[in-house]
Amino acid sequence: MLKVENVSFGYTKTKVLESIDFKVKTGENLAIIGKSGSGKSTLLKLIHGKYDLDEGQIFWNAKEIQGPKFNLVVGYDFMKFVTQEFDLMPFTTVTENIGEHLSNFYPEKKQKRTSELIKIVELEEFAKTKVKDLSGGQKQRVALARALAKQPKILLLDEPFSHIDNFKKQSLRRNIFNHLKANNITCIVATHDKNDVLGFADEIIVLHNKKIIAKKTPQNLYRNPKLPLIASFFGEFNEIEPYGIVYANQIKVVEDSDLKAIVKQCYFNGDFWLVEAEYNSESIFIQHKNELEKEVEIAFHITK
Ligand code: ADP
Ligand code: MG
Repeated sequence: MLKVENVSFGYTKTKVLESIDFKVKTGENLAIIGKSGSGKSTLLKLIHGKYDLDEGQIFWNAKEIQGPKFNLVVGYDFMKFVTQEFDLMPFTTVTENIGEHLSNFYPEKKQKRTSELIKIVELEEFAKTKVKDLSGGQKQRVALARALAKQPKILLLDEPFSHIDNFKKQSLRRNIFNHLKANNITCIVATHDKNDVLGFADEIIVLHNKKIIAKKTPQNLYRNPKLPLIASFFGEFNEIEPYGIVYANQIKVVEDSDLKAIVKQCYFNGDFWLVEAEYNSESIFIQHKNELEKEVEIAFHITK
């Protein structure tokens, strides 16, 4: 179990994080979300032991995670951190980068483990390519495999799929998160992408104004977002009195209703159209299966 107890921290006198308190059970996947600059990366760095805390303590089971004041070398063997600036060895191959810290004492075991990881990050074609010749997304995948190589007990991921294109993202996410679950590896992932979270996180914490403002399962956070900031993470939404926060997919166009709006603009979105309409002199957004004609009056229901 990871325990973050009442942690406060600032790079200067101004605090970046204040009274941060949460636990993550072994093998669970915790997502940290929040606006850019809300302290997601900082929190991961604190868990990694990169800085000394101003207040509070962090424990992995009975072991206290300590900063540079108490710990000469940053980091612990049981923990791996894939940062936004992945540090790799550019002049060696993908295979060598992934296997670097594996013992040469058992060459067969090393080879088996390395190729298993290359498969997880789908880099089979590039096994012998030097890292300097890879794209940003491919480098990010090498960094992920490298972090998994030594079978950490806890993995910290900072925007882990940010450089990876959409073609690869979906399967890569499933490969990585399934591997972590199957191996009971605790994972903390900072992200601004809901797709990194919804199908995979056991819990989500939301950072805002230095504090944790929510800690919930993805389903509970999605269904009851409480604040516009939280709803905006999941998609297009409206604030409609007296209903509160209403996602665009919770508005249904119907034959007749007391609620009426005028269509202003339609945006193609693949699976649906996002319809912008005027209701009570304000814009609302509706998810609809077809394009609608501009300036036409529609009736709608709210289904929440
Ligand atoms: P996020 O990852 O959520 O975007 P960060 O943790 O990177 O947020 O940053 C949180 C705040 O701390 C920001 O205001 C940022 O400018 C500041 N900050 C981040 N790193 C440093 C640093 N090394 N020195 C000083 N301030 C920093
Ligand atoms: Mg960050």
